[in-house]
This record gives sequence, structure tokens and C-alpha cells, in this order.
Amino acid sequence: MKTVDLIVPCYNEADVLPLFYSEIYKVLEDCPSYEFSLIFINDGSSDKTLSAILELAEKDERVKYISFSRNFGKEAAMLAGMKYSSGAYVGILDADLQHSPDLIPAMLEALEDGYDVSAARRTDRKGEGKVKSFFSHMFYKVSNKIIDIELAQGAQDFRIMKRKVVQAIISLPEYSRFSKGIFTWVGFKTKWFEHANRDRAAGKTTWSFIKLTRYAIDGIIGFSAVPLKISLLFGCFFSFLGFAYAAYIIIRTLIYGSDVAGYPSIISAIFILGGLILISLGVIGEYLARIYMEVKHRPIYIVDKTNLTVKTEPKP
Ligand code: UDP
Ligand code: MG
Repeated sequence: MKTVDLIVPCYNEADVLPLFYSEIYKVLEDCPSYEFSLIFINDGSSDKTLSAILELAEKDERVKYISFSRNFGKEAAMLAGMKYSSGAYVGILDADLQHSPDLIPAMLEALEDGYDVSAARRTDRKGEGKVKSFFSHMFYKVSNKIIDIELAQGAQDFRIMKRKVVQAIISLPEYSRFSKGIFTWVGFKTKWFEHANRDRAAGKTTWSFIKLTRYAIDGIIGFSAVPLKISLLFGCFFSFLGFAYAAYIIIRTLIYGSDVAGYPSIISAIFILGGLILISLGVIGEYLARIYMEVKHRPIYIVDKTNLTVKTEPKP
């Protein structure tokens, strides 16, 4: 019998966990040919998430858990789940039932048919604000132009992978993790499952606009050095413009003599160049900050409690 580990990151999901468990329970019963474990990650929740998980673990021995010492973010939670997993197949899905467990049987079937990854992609953004949809659309457009890998529109973290894919993902040691990029970067034969957007079953999202923006910047900077090169291009372009303008002034002065006009052009040049220099420095700063975080080699998460033992922790 094949083993399947399903990783469920949970941050303040106490309200939704009983619902989630009853839905997933039905699905697991429908797939008797697999041996499932559910790995719940309590990502430093401040509500009763941990006790809800412990309760489930008590009555169902398929329920495993990893509880972090504080909130480390969903990326860290997914990584911990993958590192602690040992199943032949490993899945990831949200606790809020936005990632419909009903898709799991079909996803498993695709793996049996020879695919390495079954991944879900949402076909619409129903129930999501217009502004958020617009920016998210823009993100995919811009990032696909400048980063080295192609991110699929609407791709979610909802997926089931074969062991070798998980091994590849956890072998990437980076601190600033952008899973959407990492999943694409490692490659492997992927089957996409389209499904409509669903509202959260209970509780509320913790992804604010600022958090999403930071995530988008992480994505672009983690997978591309193009922003650094853009500063260089801007620099070259404006230096050229500056030299051309200087040449023009010299020639004009030689022909017509000098006049004192020109303050507006000087002021605008100062502003434009000052702005560009600051932007370039900012871009360099973003990379530097990440290099700083990487070289510190801090752990990506700290486990407080778990009923699992790591079997696949790769060597640092
Ligand atoms: N999550 C987490 N740590 C966090 C934020 C979220 O583990 O710091 C989990 C959350 O419990 C949920 C999943 O990640 O299972 C997706 O989060 P959410 O539903 O808030 O995001 P959205 O669906 O709005 O993108
Ligand atoms: Mg959600």
C-alpha cells in the first residue's frame, strides 16, 4: 500500500479545523488503497488551533502534528511538513477548505498514471477584491517577463508530489522561500487541475496587502537578478543623456554666448537623478538584505512540539 502524507499549514484555524477534518475524512475513506497521514503544522497560532489538532491526534492515529515556537509563515510551515514527511506521495493543502479535498482522488490517480506532480490551479478569482486581483494579475505579467522561470497564472500551493520532487524541493536551502517559484524551478512532469475559487469555510485570511506585496518582491528577487541590471541600464541611459545635454550646452554657449536661464532643467535633473540613484540603492538593498539573511544560516523554523521524527532532513 502506498503511503500519502498530507501537509496542512494552520495559523489560527481553530474554527475551521473540525470542518476540515470531517471533509478530509470522507476523502480518505474513499481511497482505501492508500495509507494516509495528516501532518498539521501549527504555525504559532494564538487561538485554540494546537489543542484542536491534539484532540484530533488523540482520536485518529493518522493525525501527526508539528507545532512551531512562534509564527514563521506558511512557507516555513510547508517546508517543515515536507522535511518531516516520509510518504511515497506528499500533498499540501490549506486548512480553510479553499483547496477542495475532493480533488485528491483524481490527483492521486494522475500520479499513478506517470505524472510526478498533481497541482491545482484556480480558474477564477471569484470572491476576491478587484484591487487584489488586478495586482496579482500584474505580478504574474511582470514577473514572468523578468524572472528565469515561468509561473503559471492562478497556480496554488495545493499539490501532491512524488517523493523525488519533495526531495528536490527540500534540497533548496534558501532562507527567503517563494514556493510558487521553487515548485516551478525544480521541474518534473506536472498535471494541472483546474478548479473554481472557493470562499474560506471559516475564519479569515491573514494575508494583508502588505504581506502579499512583500511575498511578490520575494518572488521576483529570489528568482531574478534583472532588477539589479535595470538600475545599470537606467544609469547608462541617463549618463548618456547628461553627456549629450552637456555637449549641447557647450556648443550653444560657443555660438550664442552664455545666459543664466536653466534653473528648471537643473532642478528637474537633480530630482530625476536623485530619485533614480535612490531607487537603484533600494534595489541593491533588497538583494543585500536577502544575502544578509542567507549568510546568517538561521533555521527557517523552530519546532516546539511534534509527534513525528525527521527521516529526511538533508545535510546542511
Ligand atoms: N498560514 C500559515 N501561516 C501563516 C499564514 C497562513 O500556516 O503565517 C496557513 C493558513 O492557516 C492556511 C494557509 O496558510 O491554511 C493559507 O492562508 P490563508 O487562507 O490565510 O491565505 P489565502 O487563502 O487568503 O491566500
Ligand atoms: Mg485561504
